[in-house]
Amino acid sequence: MVIPPAFMALVVQPVPQAREQVALLVKAHPRQVIFTSGGTESNNMALKGFAAGRKQAAMAISEIEHSSLIAPAQNLQQHGWQLDLIESDSAGRVSPAAVSEVINDETCLVSVMLANNETGVIQDVAAISDVAREREVIVHTDAVQAAGKITVDFAATGAHMMSLSAHKLYGPKGVGALIVHKSLELEPLLHGTGHEMGMRGGTENVAGIVGFGKAAELAVKNLETHTTHLHELQRLLERGLREITGVSIVAEQSLRLANTTCILAEGIEGETLLMNLDRQGIAVSSGSACASGSTNPSHVLLAMGIDRDLARCAVRVSLGKDNNRDDIDYFLKHLRRELANVQDPALQAWAS
Ligand code: PLP
Repeated sequence: MVIPPAFMALVVQPVPQAREQVALLVKAHPRQVIFTSGGTESNNMALKGFAAGRKQAAMAISEIEHSSLIAPAQNLQQHGWQLDLIESDSAGRVSPAAVSEVINDETCLVSVMLANNETGVIQDVAAISDVAREREVIVHTDAVQAAGKITVDFAATGAHMMSLSAHKLYGPKGVGALIVHKSLELEPLLHGTGHEMGMRGGTENVAGIVGFGKAAELAVKNLETHTTHLHELQRLLERGLREITGVSIVAEQSLRLANTTCILAEGIEGETLLMNLDRQGIAVSSGSACASGSTNPSHVLLAMGIDRDLARCAVRVSLGKDNNRDDIDYFLKHLRRELANVQDPALQAWAS
């Protein structure tokens, strides 16, 4: 049957189209895209799908990974896998040398995130992959925070697997993807019918996937405009922060995402500062947003060698495309006010 041109748009298959859009986001091939329920599932699938069906051996993950990567790694450890931790330096970076150091004859998988969710520090995953590939070790990278904020090229990272999540790039919640190199064999986590090339059973979340595809398309289109805007705001924000006594910027010298600035505000707990700023209509997070509610200092900051008490004073400021210069001024004004309150000896005396 010949389809008249006027009806061509109607026959676009939404899921394959979204697969192409997501593939373009990370310069991968559409066949490498497996849709999942989000970054957490992608990270679980990368580790557990890799481990299933393989002889128990060793895997190495960096100390600064997101909990959705650490937890499945620890679960595998409980089931007999050896788990080695790759150190971060004080600037929040994981060096290829540190990766090389932990790789042993048993190591078959290494996982290092592309950008950290708390500090925004961007890792040189390509150099890490070089080191791992030389020793015939498979590489996974969690690019949940990086995709849509910097140019991500799956092949150039040298990784065999890459996790993505739609809601980090203005897409819907509850959908993500694992990008898998064709040479790699994984076991599905969810067995079912042949969905996602047999890699993830279950009827697809079509609405979520379509939303992810559109968000990916827009992220590619707007990447330059958004990052230029965010870099400008971040410069303004950090210039203001440097002028406030008692405030330091975590991993200040490292290459970081333009939207993420983690600060340590001496003398006030991150949770308290968060609540006080919230009353002024400012939304920041203390430590890892994903672990909020926990009063423990962030494992990422501890891994960087930051003192436990100081690590409790961490607050993460995440900027978005809709923020503007007035927001930065407003935030700095209220941060200064909060810190002046805790540093004011008269107030301190009154409070004690
Ligand atoms: N990986 C990183 C680096 C994250 O920041 C997050 C969530 O914030 C996840 C994974 C989990 O992604 P999701 O919320 O889609 O499960």
